[in-house]
Amino acid sequence: MQNSIKNNPSSLNDQNTWGIGTQCIQAGFEAAVGGPRVLPIYQTASYKYEDVDQVERLFALEESGFKYTRTGNPILAAFEQKMTILEGGTGAVATSTGQAAVLLAVANLLRAGDHLVSARTIYGGSHVLFGTTLKKLGIETTFVNPEDPVEELRKAFRPNTRLLFGETIGNPALDILDFDKFSSLAHEFDVPFIVDNTLATPFLCQPFHHGADIVVHSATKYIGGQATSLGGMVIDGGSYNWNNGKFPDYVEPDRLYANTSYWKKFGRAAFISKARAQYLRDFGVTLSPFNAFLLNLGLETLHLRMPRHCENALALAEFLENHPQVNWVVYPGLKNHRSFPRILKYFDYSGASGVLTFGLKGGSAAVREFVKALKLASLVVHVGDARTMVLHPATSTHSQLSSRERLAAGIPDDMIRVSVGIEDADDIIRDFDQALQKAKRK
Ligand SMILES: *Cc1c(COP(=O)(O)O)cnc(C)c1O
Repeated sequence: MQNSIKNNPSSLNDQNTWGIGTQCIQAGFEAAVGGPRVLPIYQTASYKYEDVDQVERLFALEESGFKYTRTGNPILAAFEQKMTILEGGTGAVATSTGQAAVLLAVANLLRAGDHLVSARTIYGGSHVLFGTTLKKLGIETTFVNPEDPVEELRKAFRPNTRLLFGETIGNPALDILDFDKFSSLAHEFDVPFIVDNTLATPFLCQPFHHGADIVVHSATKYIGGQATSLGGMVIDGGSYNWNNGKFPDYVEPDRLYANTSYWKKFGRAAFISKARAQYLRDFGVTLSPFNAFLLNLGLETLHLRMPRHCENALALAEFLENHPQVNWVVYPGLKNHRSFPRILKYFDYSGASGVLTFGLKGGSAAVREFVKALKLASLVVHVGDARTMVLHPATSTHSQLSSRERLAAGIPDDMIRVSVGIEDADDIIRDFDQALQKAKRK
């Protein structure tokens, strides 16, 4: 974005060739001479126009520009452009939360009577959205084990299946998605492949290079990185051919916008143009300009934070692996993890993000004492913060399930999830060490 309300930087092509650190800091915003150097907050709901003709063109989607902040705002456009460049897509829509990003992406594809296939090892909020809320709206989901062989996964597809969904790093099982298997299935059944790239971020992995058609994010996590603000992002890879008979809403005229056909008018950007014009308008899940400012500020250091998250998580995982009070450790950055080869295959950086899980010996009393004894790390329902934090899923996010159901979902009662921050690794390890000693005495 240039420092005016135009949304089309001349140097976008150059920005695509920058290294990821330069992109994190500078992409999406070009300061004008005499204008603010730092991306400013545009705290405005409305915009001024030349004349009635211009407004008419905007409302017919004949001209691009801002109408009202629910469907676009200059700081959001800059943040959207930066994320588009970082992921290597064609366009993006910022949303109020990550949950809203998943909703917007899915609603832009499905209607009552349609079906989707999703990995079952996804974020709990997405699982409930698909399995419960969308079901009430007439959309059915089949959850699959993403580690099943392709012959088994094929059985989940139906004639009315309209998308395939997975996460780069599933939460909290922490397996890395087999992109080749998932993208070949999506191609075979000719449905778009959506990837939630929240835990990996484009620093570790760019799903568009591995067959994804659409990427979603909770920017609340590593993108912002400091746990100040909620936000999300939907990014269009521009790879899907919407004119295949399965998505009439993309091809047929939208009578509310002067009979625009999104496919004819926007081509490779049909998905993201339609998401903004129809569902951002109707659902109103818009990111606030102030939160965009904070999330973008965090994003400026993503390339410095992610290596540190990865290094610290690996150091803590190795410490825990050798600790007598620990039953097991799961971190895909450990060489003995079954997903480790996929880091080498699909990731641009040799690291596995900052989330790990481990099993603590001594049952519920030990868990309670351990969490209470931590000094540096705190008990928090969140991941991706600069601060180290822990969570006991059995008594929090997964407490509605029975102990047996939790085990079936891969969440044993001894599991502690850690989101490893970017403090000094020695201090984090010392904190865990002293808390483990206190838990042993219980
Ligand atoms: C947190 C999270 C979400 C939801 O994001 P919010 O910003 O909390 O609404 C979606 N997907 C994943 C993988 C997440 O970790």
